[in-house]
Amino acid sequence: MPRTPKDYTNPTGKPNWCPGCGDFGIEAALKGAMAKMDLDPDKVTFVSGIGCGANMPYWFSTYGAVTLHGRALPFATGAKLANHSQQVVVEGGDGDGYGIGMGHFIHAMRRNANLTYVVGNNTVYGLTKGQISPTAQKGTPSPSTPFGSPDSAINPLAVALSVNCSFVARGYAGNLPHLTNLIKLGMEHKGFSFIDVLQPCVTYDKIHTYAYYQEKCYDLQQAGHDSADRQLAYQKAFESEKLPIGIFYQYQGEVYEEAQPQFAKGPLAARNLDNIDIGQVFGQYA
Ligand code: SF4
Ligand code: MG
Repeated sequence: MPRTPKDYTNPTGKPNWCPGCGDFGIEAALKGAMAKMDLDPDKVTFVSGIGCGANMPYWFSTYGAVTLHGRALPFATGAKLANHSQQVVVEGGDGDGYGIGMGHFIHAMRRNANLTYVVGNNTVYGLTKGQISPTAQKGTPSPSTPFGSPDSAINPLAVALSVNCSFVARGYAGNLPHLTNLIKLGMEHKGFSFIDVLQPCVTYDKIHTYAYYQEKCYDLQQAGHDSADRQLAYQKAFESEKLPIGIFYQYQGEVYEEAQPQFAKGPLAARNLDNIDIGQVFGQYA
């Protein structure tokens, strides 16, 4: 029998997000994409950082780890290299990924290991009561910036394009069929797939509501966008009157773990480590 989203649900707990939070859409889209791919839950490793959305692995029946703030990507890269037969999915928020995690964000994409990174972008740190995140526009007032943010906003798509990420996309948490398909395409992509997800925080952000995104979003692929054109993808990344969703840029590059001779004989986790003598290696440091 084909799998359904329920097959990826941990029956022992329920999400504690505010009613209407965009995280529900991301959770449903992730489970929907896994079901469409008919993935065995035991073949999925789901990694997150810290934040409202980053609690998500608790409510999945896959393997999972909630790691440190901003550190999900290095953890996930390590998990992928230890067992590259696993489908590794990373998820978190914009504060987590584009703030403290920005260094890892850039270098993980340069490496192009076969990971999928889904970032709920709601322009705030929701878990710590609504301070602005790095994607908030300059001048945005918040509990931490009562006179408006003094900093320019980060454009995560442009950053990803600048380091030649091999799959750069944006979804919207209120368009479930589109987001589900986008995440599936990202998971099927060979290499690092990055999906920024426009996600209302219904409690702390009264600007980026469902109605706001409903009016602004349009489908890039339906508009005939050429996702092989990186310059065009840059232009699309900076559109603000209307907000494109879909695949901005995609190409097939060298996948990190496929290029390493150490992995040619199969996943490291499946190797027999009996009778391996590492004395020679230690001898070099004597
Ligand atoms: Fe979602 Fe915002 Fe509530 Fe956090 S604070 S659960 S991001 S609505
Ligand atoms: Mg956030």
